[in-house]
Amino acid sequence: MNIIFFDGVREIGGNKIIIEKDGTAILFDFGKRFSINSTYFNDSFIGRNRKEVHDRVATKELPPLRNFYKEWPGTQKSSIDIDIKAAFFSHAHLDHIGLIDLIDDAVEKYMSDYSKEVLSFFEKKGIIKNNISNIKIADKPVKVGPFTVHPIPIDHDIPGALAFQIETPKGNIFYTGDFYFHGRTNEKSCNFVKYAKNNNPYILITEGTRFGWGFVTSLTEEQLKQQTISVLEQCNGILFANPYEPHISRIQTFFEIANEKNKKFVITPPYAFILNRYSDIGDKFAKDILSSPNTLIYRSEEMPDTWESKPDGTFVDAAYVYKNQKNIVMLLDFMSIPELIDIKPEKGALYIHSGGEPLPSIDAENAKILQNWLKMFNIPYFNIHSPGHAAQPDLLRMAKEINPEILLPIHTQIPERFEIASDNVKILEKGVIYNF
Ligand SMILES: [Zn+2]
Ligand SMILES: [Zn+2]
Repeated sequence: MNIIFFDGVREIGGNKIIIEKDGTAILFDFGKRFSINSTYFNDSFIGRNRKEVHDRVATKELPPLRNFYKEWPGTQKSSIDIDIKAAFFSHAHLDHIGLIDLIDDAVEKYMSDYSKEVLSFFEKKGIIKNNISNIKIADKPVKVGPFTVHPIPIDHDIPGALAFQIETPKGNIFYTGDFYFHGRTNEKSCNFVKYAKNNNPYILITEGTRFGWGFVTSLTEEQLKQQTISVLEQCNGILFANPYEPHISRIQTFFEIANEKNKKFVITPPYAFILNRYSDIGDKFAKDILSSPNTLIYRSEEMPDTWESKPDGTFVDAAYVYKNQKNIVMLLDFMSIPELIDIKPEKGALYIHSGGEPLPSIDAENAKILQNWLKMFNIPYFNIHSPGHAAQPDLLRMAKEINPEILLPIHTQIPERFEIASDNVKILEKGVIYNF
């Protein structure tokens, strides 16, 4: 059995894992690398329009797989003589799913129902193109040639995250995807660890994002809520916040803050869109938020007409928010920040940056623009956030407990750090074919 890792090796994000036996291969994640890791192309320099895949294969930014890309460069020979039969996506963060629309329609794609909804959110935003097809919901084991892939729910800062157990003729491979132990459904992560430990783990492919990050603190949503309330109580004006739109647990936290402080919960259309999508697949939090009489959807004629507006929400405009601002918690996505001109925030307004766009470490230019807007309106900025990845001690404890025959760290800048917890660590190199 062969395993190949493209990207996500000694870097955070961009995961592309291929597992192959006798010519049949399956793929786990097909993510976009973070822009700080860009080498030959980036979001604004996409190169030659009609040769995107060709050029990215030529520069080794994409793996040279035949019968896999929508537009396989005919002149180029595949150096890897395998056919990918199916692609499995652990969750809908772009560093795991971001290149999905390069994949040919003939390749079956599996993901959770939540991930599929997030994908439609990215389509609306124009981040993912709109011709994604052949997506199946991964809610039961899938057999592909010699492999059986079992989806296992795991907790991460986006709903619907999956780990995978891959039954192979050589034994069980477990792939964690991204995960943490301090989220609202952390029992999923604990159950995964127990399950992997008890099911003969031959190989564990695990993330190690926070190795090297220095701090080990991980706020729970409850702690984050209390910190936010303590700031809000001192300011007493409108509270703006920008959680990442698909992160329902964080949206729930701000909804709870609004309820506890007897304030209205106002959301911009991108939040309403994703909540509607989650609600349609039975998410209880999303349903509760949308059906609450306290929840209001912000509508402005200046906003782009990207988001469907469902008739069943209560809509308010800038004049309403202006008039009632002392009694409002508002989720304001970055693209909607110019609405501040019409909302006219008064003294006491505050802005809680909580994991949404722009992230200063990734998008410095927009982070500066955000600061300028807040400065113009004299709104204090507070960063109250908690990462969606397990802290370093948790990662080590997990590795020790599962104790696989082989541990393969990815999605980390310091894979060697797992050697503290295990003698079975193998340090990987990008694009190398490993035989296990
Ligand atoms: Zn990731
Ligand atoms: Zn992630």
